[in-house]
Amino acid sequence: MGVPARTLGGTAADAVGLEALVRLLAGRGVVVLSGAGLSTESGIPDYRGETGSRRRGSPMTYQEFTGGEAARRRYWARSHVGWRTIARAEPNAGHRAVEQLRRSGHVSAVITQNVDGLHRAAGTRTAVELHGGLHRVVCLGCRRGSSREELDRRLEALNAGFRAGSARVNPDGDAELPQALVDGFRVAPCTACGGVLKPDVVFFGETVPKPRVQRCYELVDAAQALVVLGSSLTVMSGLRFVRHAARAGTPVVIVNQGATRGDDLAEARVGLPLGAVLTEVARQVRAGSPSA
Ligand SMILES: [Zn+2]
Repeated sequence: MGVPARTLGGTAADAVGLEALVRLLAGRGVVVLSGAGLSTESGIPDYRGETGSRRRGSPMTYQEFTGGEAARRRYWARSHVGWRTIARAEPNAGHRAVEQLRRSGHVSAVITQNVDGLHRAAGTRTAVELHGGLHRVVCLGCRRGSSREELDRRLEALNAGFRAGSARVNPDGDAELPQALVDGFRVAPCTACGGVLKPDVVFFGETVPKPRVQRCYELVDAAQALVVLGSSLTVMSGLRFVRHAARAGTPVVIVNQGATRGDDLAEARVGLPLGAVLTEVARQVRAGSPSA
């Protein structure tokens, strides 16, 4: 039995999963698919929240957002509050271990479902942000892109005195606010054309751009293994890559605290905290000996 089982605790299945992770990473060419669970140690609660309760209400859809001013006001008011959490979050041990493994060639590519930009902040500039990123804003009129920091300054100026107190924040930067607060919020239009600004993220009801999906399939096709980090794979946009890998006979290992929709397709599973798991796995891969 390897070191992880002793140092990290966990079940016999966790120990098997950890050994599989070390073995596959040592073989190089591993593609990582990450989700909200990887960012919880950075202070961004996942959709199940700290208390294990599911988020209240459903996320805004693209159709709602583009369909009316009231919906956009609601989105930006809540996002303005949520952005404080996203902007101050820093990469954790998990993001850092992934970047270390990428630099050493053990991880060949990172695909993330997260919009928090933390892989990039950890140095993984090549991470494919499947659902886009909250750090960028795009105008639906003239398609001009701009930074969230710039928009944030404008929203701050327009909404002086806007105070939300404590609000529950979701990984997509959406904070849960009372409607009374939302009603008074002022939205900023595009400075170039006066058009509607939208975060550069893929909303529910919107499809991931085809070239981006194609790129991910290519990465998975070239992978020696696919490792899922912190995702319950509830949405098809991530699950399809796990199914694709499994169909091709590419080994899949899932590290997630809790069941996932991909469990039947995985050769092994680890249900332990990601920061500790990845730090230990990176150490063992570096040492070049799974049972050192
Ligand atoms: Zn514009």
